[in-house]
Amino acid sequence: MVIWNELTALWRELNRNWRYQEVRTPIIYSVDVWKQSGHWDKYRDHMFFTEKDGRPFGLKPMNCPGHVFIYQDQRRSYRDLPLRLAEQGLVHRDEPSGTLHGLMRVIHITQDDAHIFCRHDQVQEEVLGCLELAQTIYDLFGLDLRIELSTRPENRIGSDELWDDAEAALEGALRHARLEYDLNEGDGAFYGPKIDLHMTDSIGRSWQMGTIQLDYQMPERFDVTYTGEDNAEHRPAMIHRALFGSFERFIGILIEHFGGAFPLWIAPLQVAVLPVADRHNAYAEEVAEDLTAAGIRAEADLRAESVGRKIAQSETHKVPVILVVGDREAQDGTVSVRRRGEGNLGARPLQDLRDELLEEIRERRLPASTVDSTQEA
Ligand code: ZN
Repeated sequence: MVIWNELTALWRELNRNWRYQEVRTPIIYSVDVWKQSGHWDKYRDHMFFTEKDGRPFGLKPMNCPGHVFIYQDQRRSYRDLPLRLAEQGLVHRDEPSGTLHGLMRVIHITQDDAHIFCRHDQVQEEVLGCLELAQTIYDLFGLDLRIELSTRPENRIGSDELWDDAEAALEGALRHARLEYDLNEGDGAFYGPKIDLHMTDSIGRSWQMGTIQLDYQMPERFDVTYTGEDNAEHRPAMIHRALFGSFERFIGILIEHFGGAFPLWIAPLQVAVLPVADRHNAYAEEVAEDLTAAGIRAEADLRAESVGRKIAQSETHKVPVILVVGDREAQDGTVSVRRRGEGNLGARPLQDLRDELLEEIRERRLPASTVDSTQEA
């Protein structure tokens, strides 16, 4: 949950910087909605259904219709576009039980979903923006990216002309960004082509994280319009995109990628404070409280164990910062610092250390060891 909340804080900050509005939409809709969206025809086998007093409902497998309804809540003009709506969207998709896999493949999926409604002449720039934002996120974690462009599947809606346009727009954005990609023919979504963002985990398995999908069909089906400069009604394009992919899978990928040795800013416990002997317990608690008050996740370990054993346990748990406090530290207001991957760094004034840690957390810095291994790779 700590990691989830840190990712959420990052997500909110990026939403603000990239001008997305955060929204929340229901997870259950009348089946009529899914008939109109095309999900009933093309995606029914993956959906969950229920019924109340003879009225059939479907749990949403995607957030798109909810965002369409928000768009349609008021008249939109060309000046309002692009409109970017972002949601931590909870969707449910039925997967054969044999394919479920830890956090990587689940039935209950929380997407960092967004829909961008834009004019057709804005599509390429918006797709480029999504690619740039994705790169910003993956760089933060030192994740290497592989890009795939997936084109029209056999099971699809919409005319060939619209598919030609949509595929050309995505290819254009990739070329413009000078990004290398693999072509994955026939693997697009039923409503449009997509750019998929994959990463390879520590044991060589490839996982899809993000996706950027272009869609001219959904606006058609829900009669989504905007008023143009010419005062006539026009059809916007719709971009569906998720960059973590889902919070569940992204956290699974981070656990694998870092082998549990998380960067300081997302580590569930950031600092363990270990007293050398019982008589240093009060000072250890004081140090932990000082750090906690500053917003750092710190705990004093006051169990009746030897300090050597506590250090070994904290190292096994991959706690990024271990502070050992004894007579000298209590007297001088210092802490003896051990950093994961760097070893024993000696005694430091508590205030200096606190400020350094806060800066490292604020900058969401990668651990030195991860940066090294990424560069070698
Ligand atoms: Zn969507």
